[in-house]
Amino acid sequence: MNKAIFLDRDGILNVERGDYTYKIQDFQITPNIIETLKICKILKFILIVVTNQSGISQGIYSRDDMDLCHQYFQQQSGNLIDAFYHAPMHPSISSSLSRKPNSLMFERAIYRFNIDPKQSWMVGDKERDLIPARKLNLKTIFVGSGKCHYADFAIKDISKIPDIISNA
Ligand SMILES: [Mg+2]
Repeated sequence: MNKAIFLDRDGILNVERGDYTYKIQDFQITPNIIETLKICKILKFILIVVTNQSGISQGIYSRDDMDLCHQYFQQQSGNLIDAFYHAPMHPSISSSLSRKPNSLMFERAIYRFNIDPKQSWMVGDKERDLIPARKLNLKTIFVGSGKCHYADFAIKDISKIPDIISNA
């Protein structure tokens, strides 16, 4: 079986703006994230992004807009991400088992890549990122200045991720 690191997008790959990010000029890659994920790749982790993108169902931006941002990250990072999963629905439009804190995006990736949850991780900056991970027995890393009830580890500096996963 394989091991993976699941990653939230906004606030992890790119700087959280407090608003929908769907233009490349607003997609500011987080300092040190590319170097950090390169180390994770060397440690043989599959890297999977799981992101709520309800702006799509709300008509704020299109799937193509989102895809261009993801292509941009891939170009800048040398194709570090193995797969992107997104949940386009907003609760005002339709409920969705994919939208975090639900877990269907994770479950699809676990099946597709033959991932062992017990050797795998979720990195996020919101409670709703870590709730589905806990449910599936992934270990969790919260990135931010506050506390998160669902975090096994909490860090402010994203470059600490390889140390944590190597020593856990
Ligand atoms: Mg986030």
